[in-house]
Amino acid sequence: MWLGVLLSLAFLASVGTAQERSKERCPYCREDPALMAAAGVVSHRGGTIADRTGEELAAKLPASRWLFLETAHLRWASALGDSAVDARDRERIEAELARLRTALPDVPSKPRKLDPWLRLHLQAMKGEEFYARFQALLRVKDADFPAERRLDRPYMGAGPYLGEKDKFEVVLHVSRENHRRFTESFSGVAVNDSFRWHFPGLHKLLVSVPVEDADLKDDRGLWPHVAHNLSHAFLCAYKHFSYDPPVWLDEGLAQALEKEFDPQSRTTEGEEGSLRDTKAPADFAAAATKLVATDKAPRLSVLMNAKDYSELGTDGAVAVWSITRFLLDAHGEKYARFLAGVKGQLDANGMPSGEDLPNLQRALLRELWGWSPLELDDAWRSWVRAGGHAPKK
Ligand SMILES: [Zn+2]
Ligand SMILES: [Zn+2]
Repeated sequence: MWLGVLLSLAFLASVGTAQERSKERCPYCREDPALMAAAGVVSHRGGTIADRTGEELAAKLPASRWLFLETAHLRWASALGDSAVDARDRERIEAELARLRTALPDVPSKPRKLDPWLRLHLQAMKGEEFYARFQALLRVKDADFPAERRLDRPYMGAGPYLGEKDKFEVVLHVSRENHRRFTESFSGVAVNDSFRWHFPGLHKLLVSVPVEDADLKDDRGLWPHVAHNLSHAFLCAYKHFSYDPPVWLDEGLAQALEKEFDPQSRTTEGEEGSLRDTKAPADFAAAATKLVATDKAPRLSVLMNAKDYSELGTDGAVAVWSITRFLLDAHGEKYARFLAGVKGQLDANGMPSGEDLPNLQRALLRELWGWSPLELDDAWRSWVRAGGHAPKK
């Protein structure tokens, strides 16, 4: 009995602390409208996350504190605690803090650790920067996406967020257990690794990340992994997620963008979500250069038919990263049109259709470049041989 009383008292005490903490204001933007606007913050309140409110999410998933932040195109829910600033990562973090400080003067310049509010503000800032990067590679801007589908204009999806009706969401869990409970609550499956989900009725995409493993615990490893997942979410969303994009294209782009932040970082896709891989080559540029030099690179005509990530294999994963780099760096304009064509196929009735995507890709290669898949292989290999992956001077 005593034990019961003690437990419930302890429980009440912890609830009290959690509630008081949730009322604490952000020390950086202080929820001041002018500072929030400068930092691109629309709200620090729970709002909606997944299929519930932020408060409901916090009540169901125990964490010392849930923080929320909404920007122009993304919503974040974070249960992360403090993170020590790693000496190897100090330069990058200080550059990010300097960018954030142009909006929020109270952001420190050389902290030893990042507190939960600062980590969330940094993620949110990088999230919007990444959204801009993605729009730039698609050669699109917000104004290209009407709030509803317009039949009098070229097809751009069903809403203002790259073609979805609602914003992108990222949920960062402190424990795998919370991530499993959360993913099960809306998908029916308790997922172990990072997970992406499209809510069909709500027309939005969500990324859920269990920030428990050593390689994700500090922001150095976390951000490239989040960016990889957001790349998938953004490409799926482009012109509305009505069918799965080709695996080689989707994975090639996610890896290319992830490695722009950290060339060593590699997220691999498991059956249920994504996990970080330790078997892949550490240096994709060297691995791709070797694949081409030894003429062992898989052919695009084969890669194009991969139905899931595992079908790509390690050489295929290196090849799709390298081909994507080639298209981004040497053919950016046409690559954007290629993505637009692959993501926006309509059937005879004007409905989005994922029918025969290999054939669609062949037609687009022919139309945009005059290439067959084999001719793309040749052009790509020539680019690699001419030093496409050599370090930029
Ligand atoms: Zn704030
Ligand atoms: Zn991926």
